[in-house]
Amino acid sequence: MGSLQAPVAADVPGARHLYSGKVRDLYELDDGRLLMVASDRISAFDYILETTIPDKGAILTRMSLWWFEQLVDLVPNHVVSAALPAGLPRDLTGRAVVCERLEMFPVECVARGYLTGSGLLDYNRTGEVCGIPLPVGLVDGSRLPEPIFTPATKAEFGEHDENIAYGDVVSTVGAPTADRLRALTLAVYSRGEQIARDRGIILADTKVEFGRRADGTVVLADEVLTPDSSRFWPADQWQPGRPQPSYDKQFVRDWLTSPESGWDRASGEPPPPLPDRVVEQTRDRYVEALERLTGEQF
Ligand code: ATP
Ligand code: MG
Repeated sequence: MGSLQAPVAADVPGARHLYSGKVRDLYELDDGRLLMVASDRISAFDYILETTIPDKGAILTRMSLWWFEQLVDLVPNHVVSAALPAGLPRDLTGRAVVCERLEMFPVECVARGYLTGSGLLDYNRTGEVCGIPLPVGLVDGSRLPEPIFTPATKAEFGEHDENIAYGDVVSTVGAPTADRLRALTLAVYSRGEQIARDRGIILADTKVEFGRRADGTVVLADEVLTPDSSRFWPADQWQPGRPQPSYDKQFVRDWLTSPESGWDRASGEPPPPLPDRVVEQTRDRYVEALERLTGEQF
């Protein structure tokens, strides 16, 4: 894999920068709460692209907030406020969420209803995903008999998450918490899958993260059911046996792998900047996903 550079986060007066992921920047506020800022950065083929997608951060923030609301009867969430605290730069409006700081469980909680990505790789090697045996004859994009919990380790920056067995989650967080994480992850997936399906979108899989409050309550954290944490496929183009078109990044991937981009994925070179047309198409896709799912206008 190519060299993934950690991005440089903007200074936010009144907040202390803690960490930057591929797409989001995390700050600590004076009251100890967290400020999670979604940037307009986009990643593809494990690179953060040098071109940004205008409004992506705001669109994904809106989507995540909307989903937290749809899930609130299933699990409490870390959102304190979507309003920008006074004194912070206005350009963070819509992209920043104030969150409770939790003690995070060091597990990427993944639920899959369809087989693809690292799940497919595991299955092709072993017939199992995370130790869960699956029927023979499944192909890329197959719908699974029922959704499965396929946890992964939280990898360091630039590394890949590694799928682990349920027993490893038990060793890490204890049996009662492991059971709770699995049940909540599957409940979040099922709710999300059902809502997306009604709107013509397949939710193939999703990754959620949970943390613990001081009183022990398990809380849904991070972002939830965004295209950055989930695979959304247009339902009318679903065709098992090939990679499915991705709802959001298809134009980016298609262009980067086309001769027009001049980019050789195997070269180890970072991808070139995206042309305006690809940026616009991709932005439209994010807007469409938001509007289709939530029924709101962006
Ligand atoms: P990637 O870009 O692949 O997602 P990443 O997970 O390292 O990489 P981010 O997702 O941007 O990067 O980072 C967000 C970080 O904040 C994660 O480490 C996540 O576990 C953590 N986090 C999310 N919500 C909370 C919370 N309420 N309290 C404490 N930490 C949180
Ligand atoms: Mg993350």
